[in-house]
Amino acid sequence: MPHDTPLISTIVGGLVLAFIFGAFAHRLRMPPLVGYLIAGVLVGPHTPGYVADQSLAPELAEIGVILLMFGVGLHFSLKDLLSVRGIAVPGAIAQIAFATLLGWGLGAFLGWPTGGSLVFGLALSVASTVVLLKALQERRLVETERGRIAVGWLIVEDLAMVLALVLIPAAASIGGEGHAPVEPLSAGLNRLFGLDLGIGGMIAMTLVKVALFVALMLVFGRKLIPWTMHRIAHTGSRELFRLGVLAIALGVAFGAAKLFGVSLALGAFFAGMVLAESELSHRAAQESLPLRDAFAVLFFVSVGMLFDPNILIDKPLLILATIFIIVIGKSVAALLIVLAFKKPLGTALTISASLGQIGEFSFILAALGVELGLLPEEGRDLILAGAIISIILNPLLFFLCDRMRPFFEGKREESAAEPAAPSADATITQETAALEDDDVHPTALSGHAILIGYGRVGRIVGQNLKSSGTPFLVIEDSDKRIGELKALGIETFMGNAVARETLDLANLSGARSLAIAIPNAFEACRIAEQARSVNPSILIVARAHSDAEVDELKQYGADTVIMGEREIALGMVDRLAQVHHEGVPYEDGHGPDTLISTDEPPPQRQ
Ligand code: AMP
Repeated sequence: MPHDTPLISTIVGGLVLAFIFGAFAHRLRMPPLVGYLIAGVLVGPHTPGYVADQSLAPELAEIGVILLMFGVGLHFSLKDLLSVRGIAVPGAIAQIAFATLLGWGLGAFLGWPTGGSLVFGLALSVASTVVLLKALQERRLVETERGRIAVGWLIVEDLAMVLALVLIPAAASIGGEGHAPVEPLSAGLNRLFGLDLGIGGMIAMTLVKVALFVALMLVFGRKLIPWTMHRIAHTGSRELFRLGVLAIALGVAFGAAKLFGVSLALGAFFAGMVLAESELSHRAAQESLPLRDAFAVLFFVSVGMLFDPNILIDKPLLILATIFIIVIGKSVAALLIVLAFKKPLGTALTISASLGQIGEFSFILAALGVELGLLPEEGRDLILAGAIISIILNPLLFFLCDRMRPFFEGKREESAAEPAAPSADATITQETAALEDDDVHPTALSGHAILIGYGRVGRIVGQNLKSSGTPFLVIEDSDKRIGELKALGIETFMGNAVARETLDLANLSGARSLAIAIPNAFEACRIAEQARSVNPSILIVARAHSDAEVDELKQYGADTVIMGEREIALGMVDRLAQVHHEGVPYEDGHGPDTLISTDEPPPQRQ
């Protein structure tokens, strides 16, 4: 590997090893992120062989954070954000306080100075953006109420971090504990403006800067960014559009961080949010996906690089205590807080599972604490070990929360209501159920049709089923669509249809047909596979975008697979034949304006 190209070798080494170990982990039926972390440990300085650049890797990972937060922003409107503030603000603050207290307790027990113990506690209290968002995305929870609460919670934590990074150096220099080798940014600014602000002033100044950034984004960004993207879309150049998306996500995030002291993640979130209401948001999300996933993988590699496996042998008990605080202490606190807000148990469990880990913020705090002489190196090592282990445990935590829910519910209601049958495939940790209400009951329908997805395709199928009087129900995971379905009086279950729990509610075994109208063939295959195993005689009709997907879906049990692109072509052929050979006039109601979407079959075709 060339020695003079650290950037290239870090990217290539990170991605290649992450790919190999991710695939390996997948084969062993473990989440791929475990493989990415192991790849990181291998390219890190604590194991022999090639060592990637330790400062470049986390920087590259930041790009993943930016694109992830931008992507989440694209699904969020200001209204969505404000709708969760009632629970996210007090919830996050209470949880940060509780976890900090536990961490401080452990630090005090070990005889660390108060400042160091507080930094340690704070580092254990903030969840990793990447881990949380990836967990929500894998389970298709971002557009659900619980997903929005978790993201709102994350944003409050992010803001708390922005404040902490300003305040810790200031407090260190004022408190006389430790030393302050770097001048805090705000102190520099104070001098620049000839001001001498105390801690209160610094907090106020930081908040004013954040508020200024948010106001600028909401007033100008909201007009300027969608306008720019529309102009670029009209050039017809996909390359320019893609570039525009990246330039806006990265540019706003970087500008926010440099000019306003806002975190990169928060800046990116707002850049996405101002685009969310534009019809281009869907395309923008698509365009940033591949890069986002690649850089998010580098995040896990960079975490792995920091890990020194020796600590497992040197300080097992301290690590256990740290993990206990992160995984159990924090989760239980979040669970109780969400339940105190009278949210359903399922929501509380998802939120607490998503927060039971730490990551990039904690590393920044740990590094700052050590640099200021507040936190002993032992504290940083515990934080690093705690992070990697809690990230590995996170999918397990989600899995356990799912398993625990029926048990708790049974206790709560003390009713004989039968819990949903557990998944036959215990390895599907990524596909946990995402049911939004806790008091859902299985359908009473039988001999019915089950429609999965109510988007561009499912909507047309649903309308036809309704008008023909066929008994049917819908499974959807976007709560915006659920609202629409409920208004139409259609029986609906909210959740990821890949989860067996969701499918069971739809009485799969008693259904006559299943229409899988979702675009992701990988998920569609899992659904078809489960459906076929539960009900060998059900008719399964699925949607695909390529011949390879058609074959795969058939292999997994689909009877009929409609390939969107082929149907579009046939629709075009029909229309051309009508005009050229049958003499059908151009304006017969089948004109070009009736075919609006890109991959839907024409409504009238069989
Ligand atoms: P479209 O591609 O426009 O037909 O939209 C697909 C619809 O299916 C969207 O409304 C999604 O929310 C929904 N959807 C996609 N995947 C799943 C899934 N695994 N479970 C339930 N609904 C889904």
